Amino acid sequence: SQVPFAVNETVRSYEPGSPEVKSLISTYREMWKQNTEIPMVIGGKEVRTEQKTSLFSPQDHSHEIGFYHKGNMDHVDQAINAALEAKEKWNALGWEHRAAIFLKAADLIAGPYRDKLNAATMIGQSKNVHQAEIDAACELIDFLRFNVEFMTEMYAEQPVSDTGIWNRAEYRPLEGFCFAVTPFNFTAIAGNLPSCMAMMGNVVVWKPSHSQIYSAKVIMDIFTEAGLPAGVINMIFTDGAQTAEKILSHPDFAGLHFTGSTGVFQGMWKMIGNNIHTYKTYPRIVGETGGKDFVMVHPSANAAAVATALVRGAFEYQGQKCSAASRAYIPKSLWEEVKEIMGAQLKTVKVGTPEDPSNFVNAVIDKKSFEKCKNYIERAKNSGDSKVIFGGTCDDTKGWFVHPTVIETTNPQYESMCEEIFGPILSVYIYEDADWQKTLKLVDETSPYSLTGSIFSQDRYAIAEAYKALENAAGNFYINDKPTGAVVGQQPFGGARASGTNDKAGSKMNLLRWVSVRSIKETF
Ligand code: GLU
Repeated sequence: SQVPFAVNETVRSYEPGSPEVKSLISTYREMWKQNTEIPMVIGGKEVRTEQKTSLFSPQDHSHEIGFYHKGNMDHVDQAINAALEAKEKWNALGWEHRAAIFLKAADLIAGPYRDKLNAATMIGQSKNVHQAEIDAACELIDFLRFNVEFMTEMYAEQPVSDTGIWNRAEYRPLEGFCFAVTPFNFTAIAGNLPSCMAMMGNVVVWKPSHSQIYSAKVIMDIFTEAGLPAGVINMIFTDGAQTAEKILSHPDFAGLHFTGSTGVFQGMWKMIGNNIHTYKTYPRIVGETGGKDFVMVHPSANAAAVATALVRGAFEYQGQKCSAASRAYIPKSLWEEVKEIMGAQLKTVKVGTPEDPSNFVNAVIDKKSFEKCKNYIERAKNSGDSKVIFGGTCDDTKGWFVHPTVIETTNPQYESMCEEIFGPILSVYIYEDADWQKTLKLVDETSPYSLTGSIFSQDRYAIAEAYKALENAAGNFYINDKPTGAVVGQQPFGGARASGTNDKAGSKMNLLRWVSVRSIKETF
């Protein structure tokens, strides 16, 4: 089935021919023709510049879907100043008012903006109907509503003692402004990172990914319509490296909320380290970076369940998830069966534009990503120890299309078993059944990342063994399920090692990073 219920919010059914799908597709077509103008938003005002930069859709790289106004370092300054100006009033506003704004934003997405946000995600990020609905509509609604609930619980938790002492804790926003840097691959993440910091009382400079500006505009419109006061979240489109340098050297910089590549995050952390003596307060650093997520299969596993998990885990949204299944370890005794079922499933997988809801795989995000995937595939075809067993074709005549590809390798250290590709490429290593324990060790040691991973087995002793052996190999660990699709409020998301600071998006643990707690003791 194509509809993974990876969310709490009810997923709309977009059956072919249904009124919902008709309405969404007509919004898609209208927006496709519009050539949308996208200004920055600083201090509540739309900011236009001379530097108009075109945006193209991944599924048709010759079609301009819109253009944004690119900013320079003056705009970064303006955004910081606007945030700091808004700070006093925003801080003085009770949390119940902040809650109301973000609950209203969730309602706007659930209602009048649903089609628009989904269509923007389909056009700008090449997600199919189901993936857009789960990401842009449902997961962002979940983030907003659950975070409000977590925040409410936090403010309600006041320990009372009957010893003549009144102890309490106060959640204050960070002193200064925060910086949100968001990725292209999830509209929900782009909306969550700045909003959860703002919800906890902070003021924010938000730099969305260049490849997600099209849906970022819709998110910003929603926040504004929900009543977010001017300057609380400032959305800028500026050069990433220069912006980081400017923001991270500001004395009032107080927190970084980042999702993106490991290299960029490490570079930013170093900058913060170099500037540490200049800040008024130690900045909070929260990052979710890469992954090289595993599927480890025991000989007792159900082959059909493994095959389905691999197809969905590796190829949904073209594998452009930090959590995507990208390396699988399969016992020899099970491989033929898994391969056969995967092959049959892949035959039914259609590749094409999101406009046709029956297309499961759409385009990868851009030329760079397309070339990267193509190069991995070409090298695998010509490598001595690896071969392409499914897919392996790429077509960039109209859009950046890479067919779901499976590489089988006899070398567990082969490049595609170790490196993050961020595309629809799955690598499979077949191990001798007797080497199960050795292979567990291999899974743990092969990659520097530790984001998600799955164990498939019907044998409880084997599950327990993997559970222990891989305890540090994945921040999100799945037993008999694909390693993607963490649900807000159910499986808080994030990983350690090179995958990030493991501050669990969609949980109280994350919100706690955006407050500075004051403990108060009062005697009578
Ligand atoms: N939360 C998503 C999942 O569980 C992945 C987010 C990401 O790719 O950063 O699949």
